[in-house]
Amino acid sequence: MNIDFDKKYDVAVVGGGIAGVAAAVQAARCGKKTVLIEKTVYCGGLATAGLVYVYLPLCDGNGRQVTFGIAEELLHCSIKYGPGEVPAEWRKERNAPEIKRYRCVFSPAAYILALDEFLEKNNIDVWFDTVVCGVEQDGSKISSVTVCNKSGVGTVSADAFIDATGDAELYRKCHVPCHCGSNMLAVWALEFVRNRKDNGEFCGGLGDEVFIYPHNDNANLQGIDGKKVSDYMLASRRILRERYAGQQESRYERYPLFVPAMPQYRTIWSIDAAWVLKEKDAAADFDDSIGMTGDWRNAGPVWEIPFRSLYTQSGPENLIAAGRCTGADGDAWEITRVIPSAALTGQAAGMAAALALDSGSSIQKTDVAKLQKSLADAGVLLRRSELQHL
Ligand SMILES: Cc1cc2nc3c(=O)[nH]c(=O)nc-3n(C[C@H](O)[C@H](O)[C@H](O)COP(=O)(O)OP(=O)(O)OC[C@H]3O[C@@H](n4cnc5c(N)ncnc54)[C@H](O)[C@@H]3O)c2cc1C
Repeated sequence: MNIDFDKKYDVAVVGGGIAGVAAAVQAARCGKKTVLIEKTVYCGGLATAGLVYVYLPLCDGNGRQVTFGIAEELLHCSIKYGPGEVPAEWRKERNAPEIKRYRCVFSPAAYILALDEFLEKNNIDVWFDTVVCGVEQDGSKISSVTVCNKSGVGTVSADAFIDATGDAELYRKCHVPCHCGSNMLAVWALEFVRNRKDNGEFCGGLGDEVFIYPHNDNANLQGIDGKKVSDYMLASRRILRERYAGQQESRYERYPLFVPAMPQYRTIWSIDAAWVLKEKDAAADFDDSIGMTGDWRNAGPVWEIPFRSLYTQSGPENLIAAGRCTGADGDAWEITRVIPSAALTGQAAGMAAALALDSGSSIQKTDVAKLQKSLADAGVLLRRSELQHL
C-alpha cells in the first residue's frame, strides 16, 4: 500500500468522544505532543453526534460530589455556549443539601463549539474526518496506526496510544480478546415543535424536545459488523418515519430537527481488562483507584474505579483504554459507560500514558502511587474514605 503521509507524536488518542477529549487534554497538560484522531468532524461522540444531551451526575445523590477533575470541567463546558443549568446548590459547594443532582442537560451543538475551544486551549492537534483502519505492532508495542482521510492513507506513529473508540477498536485490531455487550433499539432525536411549552423536566430548558423510543433487547442489534450498524441506523430512522407519517398538514408545526449521526449503541465491546469491574465491586475499595463515580440511577452507591480496568494484562504495553470500552460487565458497565465515567477514565488514561513515557515503563507497570498523586494534584479525589461524612 502507498503511504501518502507519516506523522509522529508522543501520545495518540483514537476517538474524540468525551473519554478521548479528557485523555488528550490530560496528556497535553503533562507536556506531551498529543494528537486526537476522530472519524467524524467534531468531538463529543455519543454526547454530540449521538445527541445524548444529559451530562449525568457528578454526585452520589446524597449531597456529596464524588467525581472531580476534567469530568467537572467538561460538565461546565457543555453549557458554556448554550442553554442548561447546574442546579443552584452545586454552584458554590462540593457538598450540597441535595435537592437536585449535580448534572445538567445541554445542547449538543453548543457542546461541539465548547469542545473545539477546550481542545485548542490545551494545544491538541486534532485530526477530524480521519479514520483509524489499521494497527502496526513492533514486538510488544504498537508503533503506528494506519489512518485514512482526504490526504489519502497515512501512518501516525506515537510512543503511547489511547483507545477511546467506544468499542475497543485498537485492542481488537491487536487481536486482544474483548467482551461483547447487548443493546436495545433506542432513538434519541431532536424535534421542533412550534410553541411547545417546555415542562423543564427532561429537556431542562432546551427549546426542542428530545424523545426516546426504547425497544426490547435483541441480539441482532449488536454493532459488531458493518452491515449490522447500517441495519441499526435504518431501523432507528424507520421508527422516526412512523412518528411523522401522515402529518403532511402539520409539518411546519412539528418536524424532525436532527437525527443521530452515530449509532446509539450503549455497549458494544469492552476490554478483557486486568480487572473487569462487576456488580460485586459496588462497595469495593481499590488500592489502585483512579477516582470515583456515583450511580446515576440511584442515590447512595459510590464506585471506585481501579486503574487495572483500563488495560489488559497481555495487550500491547503502550496501549490503554478510556471511556465505555474499559473493563466492566453487567451492572458495572451501566456505571462506567456514561459521560462522567468516560471523562474520569479518559483523564486517568491520559495521565498514565504520560507517566509511562516519562519513566520508560509499560502501561501495565505504571507506578500507581505516582499516578494517584498526579491525579490528586490535578484535583481528582480518589477514594471513598476521602469523602466527607455528611
Ligand atoms: C441511547 C443512549 C442514551 C444515553 N444516555 C446517556 C445519558 O443520558 N447520559 C450519559 O451521561 N450517558 C448516556 N449514554 C452513554 C454515553 O453517552 C456514552 O457512553 C459516552 O458518551 C461514551 O463516551 P466515549 O468517549 O467512551 O465513547 P463515544 O462517545 O462512543 O466516542 C467514541 C469516538 O470514537 C470515534 N471513533 C470510533 N472508532 C474510530 C476510528 N476507528 N477512528 C477514528 N475515530 C473513531 C467515534 O466517532 C466517537 O466519536 C447514552 C448512550 C446511548 C446509546
